[in-house]
Amino acid sequence: MAKGQISVQTENIFPIIKKFLYSDQEIFLRELVSNAIDATTKLKTLSSKGEIKGDLGDLTIDIIIGDDTLTIRDRGIGMTEEEVMKYLNQVAFSSAEEFLEKYKDDANIIGHFGLGFYSAFMVADKVEVVTKSYKKKSPAVIWSCTGDPEFEIDKADKKERGTDIILYISEDSKDFLKKSRIEELLQKYCKFLPFPIRFGTKTESTWEGEGDDRKEIKTESDNIINHKEPLWKKKPSDLTDEDYKNFYNHLYPHSMPPLFWIHLNIDYPFNLTGILYFPKVNNSIEVQKNKIQLYSNQVYVTDNVSEIVPEFLTLLHGVIDSPDIPLNVSRSYLQSDSNVKKITSYITKKVAEKLSSLFKEDRKEYEEKWGEISVFVKYGMLSEEKFYEKAEKFALLKNIDGEHFTFEEYNEKIKETQKDKHDKVIHLYTNAKKEHHSFIESAKDSGYDVLEMDTIIDNHFIQHLEQKLTEATFVRVDSDTVDNLVQKDETRESVLSDKEKERVEGIFKSILPEAGGPNLEMKALSPNDYPVIVTKPEFMRRMQEMQQFQNMGKGEMPEFFNVVINTNHPMVAEKLIKMKGKERKEKFASYLYDLARLNQGMLKGEEMSKFIKKSLEFVG
Ligand code: ADP
Repeated sequence: MAKGQISVQTENIFPIIKKFLYSDQEIFLRELVSNAIDATTKLKTLSSKGEIKGDLGDLTIDIIIGDDTLTIRDRGIGMTEEEVMKYLNQVAFSSAEEFLEKYKDDANIIGHFGLGFYSAFMVADKVEVVTKSYKKKSPAVIWSCTGDPEFEIDKADKKERGTDIILYISEDSKDFLKKSRIEELLQKYCKFLPFPIRFGTKTESTWEGEGDDRKEIKTESDNIINHKEPLWKKKPSDLTDEDYKNFYNHLYPHSMPPLFWIHLNIDYPFNLTGILYFPKVNNSIEVQKNKIQLYSNQVYVTDNVSEIVPEFLTLLHGVIDSPDIPLNVSRSYLQSDSNVKKITSYITKKVAEKLSSLFKEDRKEYEEKWGEISVFVKYGMLSEEKFYEKAEKFALLKNIDGEHFTFEEYNEKIKETQKDKHDKVIHLYTNAKKEHHSFIESAKDSGYDVLEMDTIIDNHFIQHLEQKLTEATFVRVDSDTVDNLVQKDETRESVLSDKEKERVEGIFKSILPEAGGPNLEMKALSPNDYPVIVTKPEFMRRMQEMQQFQNMGKGEMPEFFNVVINTNHPMVAEKLIKMKGKERKEKFASYLYDLARLNQGMLKGEEMSKFIKKSLEFVG
């Protein structure tokens, strides 16, 4: 037996390793299984080059739980005594030390890769490596270390090629001796590894026979963790839609089927593969995030990819696999990494291209899906200028009749009818089709088109579009009387004289609250419009929405609205003006006012029943 002292300064490594990322201790298993995979891959490579002759035999990697040990066993290239000395004592220790030195203050290292073999000491008091090299005539060796700089190395009687890493699990890490815990970790990190990972056996039961003869048949078989192939590594031309959908279902059981997907595959200037799915997004963003899984050579790393893909793309689901994303670095470093920047813009470009091709190839289908992808596209346009530039051509506006238009098409459609006297093209919209019904009808009667903008981010999106499309202004359909929505130069002739108008104004003034009440306007509108109209001016409404957003409900601004009296409407120009008696006039005026409020959905509860009583007086 030989004893030795690990060659580099390691006195303080183990305590650090043990404390390091205590919450993330579990990654030791990923690191050790990755090493086993690497050793097996190397063996395969040597064999394919002809440097190893003959059959390689079973290459399954085993994870075995003992009384107080956890063993990771591979049938890879193994190590000679010299290699053990070199890799485990010098190279590995030095890299572990360097690694810890660099990152000991930064617990936020993505994936914590690079700790490698020494992460075993996060959970074990003692580690034994029993290994036999593929090289002929090299005897098996056992290396053991109890977590101080001393190690022992000796001959072992292992007959088969490969390496056993035996962890003597420490008292406070006993959790890692539980079958369920290890199964969970293997499922998380190792599901798509390229060589079979076996974790004991599993029993499945089936039933045979009928009635009293019915009996349970138990079959025991190997519990192979990675039975599903990593679909993203395959060629898109070899895959069917069904394959993609099944894989999605495998990744996210019980989810709605995805809308469509993008298969990513690039080797230069960086290597990246993956599949991104467009999920069915409902009207909420937050819950959908953090579904993309990041892999490095098929080893799961994290599902927090916010530094790698632009914010809006985190709404997508799926897998990204890239060995070129530096993993043993802190998150803040990642954002400035040039490869990561390239990857980010590559993914953004691919997503835009996919949407663009769907739009061009099957506009009808694209329109059908628009409702489900619009939040995503709008979010992207708001947050990424590059994406905006591309999406401008395939983003759609939908009107209340369910017709879809690109920005350009829509401008073409309304630029004659809805251009105002300042040459602005007024885009009328509603965010509440039912409540704005009467305003929408009036707008349509005037030959205007009304858009439906009712997703959660449309408020922001509208403001963004106004900055981008300099000639466009968005005006909510209830923000003014229909004559004023698109302001033209023409003025309508008034039925009433100025004197009569003053009288009408006087009546309404007396029924509206004086201070803090709505703003009263007298206007000669179409006799077909309503007699009294309550409007919510666009500017004031936006101010209020902004304030609400900032205050999150605290100290709300009172609702601001205008009351417009249509002095050309027969109810005003004939009925009201000819009515006898001050009291009756005021009652009728307040009835017309309530009618307008009813139209804006402003009458609630008690007010409603008062209104009904009042209206009965004027019926017939
Ligand atoms: P890394 O894997 O990043 O090189 P590690 O500390 O995990 O660093 O391992 C150091 C070296 O030890 C590896 O490069 C490899 O040569 C050797 N090694 C570790 N585990 C095994 C194994 N299961 N079989 C063969 N060699 C191994």
